[in-house]
Amino acid sequence: MLYNDLESMNRIIRSCTKCALFEYRKNAVCGNGSLSPEIFLIGEAPGKSEDENGIPFSGRSGQLLRKSLTLTGVSKHRIYITNSVKCRPPDNEKPKLEYMKICNGYLRYEIELLKPKVIIPLGNSSLKALTLITEVKYGNISKIVGEKFEWNGTLIFPQFHPAAILRDIKRLDKFNNVFFEIIKILKN
Ligand code: SF4
Repeated sequence: MLYNDLESMNRIIRSCTKCALFEYRKNAVCGNGSLSPEIFLIGEAPGKSEDENGIPFSGRSGQLLRKSLTLTGVSKHRIYITNSVKCRPPDNEKPKLEYMKICNGYLRYEIELLKPKVIIPLGNSSLKALTLITEVKYGNISKIVGEKFEWNGTLIFPQFHPAAILRDIKRLDKFNNVFFEIIKILKN
């Protein structure tokens, strides 16, 4: 593995200038959560709040996500949350593939080190970043939410990005059902 441990990688991320996104950030946003997580969530990119405080999913999308996790019985001690790129793209754009490719080594290390039982890519960009690692083509997120895939003994549950639920609340039941299904599987 490339780094001694997660904290030494995070120190590198905080001063990383490998792609152009470093020019726009206030803070690089490192992954956060359990160091032996059952569930590993991948977001797209830090937003305004995350850029300001350096904590992943600390804005409105994060509030919705945490509410759903609590409602469906996913305790915060079971999860680790990170992003497909660690720095905020300008104007809240989706992260470009070229930046995801450059940043992907950090995500790969997080997955290899933490060895979660379940990976949940939230939204299409996160799914693309995961595809760079698993080399599995999953399809568009809106068509595959509710399906599960297996990769190297890890289950992958593609999921809507919580921002998509904020835009269309009718998707909330489907969003929550994915977490209910995961909890059911982890209990067995
Ligand atoms: S997005 Fe990733 S690769 Fe680009 S500067 Fe930030 S940490 Fe480095």
